[in-house]
Amino acid sequence: MASRVNDFTESTKQEALERQHHKCGSCGVRITEVGDAGQDDHPYGETARAHHISHHKHGGSAGVDNCVILCWSCHYTAHEGGRYRTGHVDGTPADFPHYRG
Ligand SMILES: [Zn+2]
Ligand SMILES: [Zn+2]
Repeated sequence: MASRVNDFTESTKQEALERQHHKCGSCGVRITEVGDAGQDDHPYGETARAHHISHHKHGGSAGVDNCVILCWSCHYTAHEGGRYRTGHVDGTPADFPHYRG
């Protein structure tokens, strides 16, 4: 899959995960690695995804401040059940209580 301009870099994702103290930004489950690598450590075998808090179509940046790491199901929920393309999914601080761990 081609990467977009607004995709987070690997180091940005890593920085965000460390800021969150290796917890999902939404539910707080332990996340050891972004992507598929941490899957074996998740209680339900979920992968982790980097999420834009403010959608890039609304000017959300690819910086670490706009990056929250979520487990797969929380990411799905953040996009209101998979509406990845509408761009109407800006998060609020209440959506990500574990933003700082
Ligand atoms: Zn979660
Ligand atoms: Zn997302």
